[in-house]
Amino acid sequence: MLKNDQLDQWDRENFFHPSTHLAQHARGESPTRIVTGGSGCHIVDREGNKLLDAFAGLYCVNVGYGRKEIAEAIADQAKELAYYHSYVGHGTEASITLAKMILDRAPKNMSKVYFGLGGSDANETNVKLIWYYNNILGRPEKKKIISRWRGYHGSGLMTGSLTGLELFHKKFDLPLEQVVHTEAPYFFRRENAEQTESEFVAHCVAELETLISLEGADTIAAFIGEPILGTGGIVPPPAGYWAAIQEVLKKHDILLVADEVVTGFGRLGTMFGSEHYGIEPDLITIAKGMTSAYAPLSGSIVGEKMWTVLEKGTDENGPIGHGWTYSAHPIGAAAGVANLNLIDSLGLIENAGTVGSYLNVQMRQALHEHPHVGDVRGEGMMCAIEFVADKEKRNFFDPAQKIGPQIAAGLLEKGVIGRAMPQGDILGFAPPFCLTKEEADEVVSKTTDVVKSFS
Ligand code: PLP
Repeated sequence: MLKNDQLDQWDRENFFHPSTHLAQHARGESPTRIVTGGSGCHIVDREGNKLLDAFAGLYCVNVGYGRKEIAEAIADQAKELAYYHSYVGHGTEASITLAKMILDRAPKNMSKVYFGLGGSDANETNVKLIWYYNNILGRPEKKKIISRWRGYHGSGLMTGSLTGLELFHKKFDLPLEQVVHTEAPYFFRRENAEQTESEFVAHCVAELETLISLEGADTIAAFIGEPILGTGGIVPPPAGYWAAIQEVLKKHDILLVADEVVTGFGRLGTMFGSEHYGIEPDLITIAKGMTSAYAPLSGSIVGEKMWTVLEKGTDENGPIGHGWTYSAHPIGAAAGVANLNLIDSLGLIENAGTVGSYLNVQMRQALHEHPHVGDVRGEGMMCAIEFVADKEKRNFFDPAQKIGPQIAAGLLEKGVIGRAMPQGDILGFAPPFCLTKEEADEVVSKTTDVVKSFS
């Protein structure tokens, strides 16, 4: 075992952490928590602190930590066959089984699964498939993708462009020109405080219609959205939003991608978020919850409408020139099979629905009257508190005085992990599905204690 000082020094000298303030890290101002273990909803760090992880890593360890069934499936697969590719003429039992299990659980009219490694590459795949599709259909102009401000779709060149958060564009020369953004369904932050939910939905629809007519419907290929905005602040859509948006998309022959990287496989208490909100996508992005992050794996679930065209296209153009070495990696696939079996056998989706709504109700009751709490919102195992300087005006604190990060730090001292979301002043929770009511009570009471110290 390395001495702690040695590890800290190696960390500072060698390790490039993602989404990190590099200079602060180099100066030792944001020391790295070295995580050494985990069980259920808790992780343990090198110092022996046991923390209730109410964000499930990065909303991905859905079945909780330390699940032997998945670890053993991974070990068995690695011993039997650690790797073989899935390019033409090859496959493995694990990856074929997982594809079948996913389609069995997917919304209707879905046809095939293309496997990748993470949510970002799956969304890159989606965009390429959409372009290919429109080229095959003889519509080479129909290529732009509409995304929403505050959406999160990854960190690649295209997916960082689709992402509608400033941090992921700044100094990267993003977004790329094929991406256009429209308004987020962020009811709490509507400009006109007098608007009702249905008026605000009509406003979002009008914004979308305006954008489509400005760009020209024949240049717009697809619309991508998370059923509930995640990294952009855990923002459930107002009632009627998805139905109204889908009507516009159908009218203009625009494909719909449901990015279910966070919501797929149960986070909202239904197998997919699409089911929860009545979304009928042409493509679905999946990742995190497919393996509960026990191994990296992602996927694009391709709907029948697109599949028919893609298949026919290869008859005319030859094999589809898109693949990763690790597409359908058997270790990831074995983890996925064991994970989905575990979710079924333990009834974890039902628990995500019941304990998730309990968490949301309790959090709202405890905090909605606090003078610096503007909004408490969520759905299933997702919950957020948005802080304001003044409740009536709904205005933000000065950026340097945001209280979300301070509350996350205070909460951590009490042994609970929440996440200060990257944009706005928002504290988010997205616990593992195995959260118990007692653990939900602990999250609420500790959060309440810390929030109440800011008055
Ligand atoms: N899409 C959504 C909705 C996400 O939340 C994320 C990651 O948080 C991604 C895509 C990107 O996934 P990854 O980080 O695995 O590339």
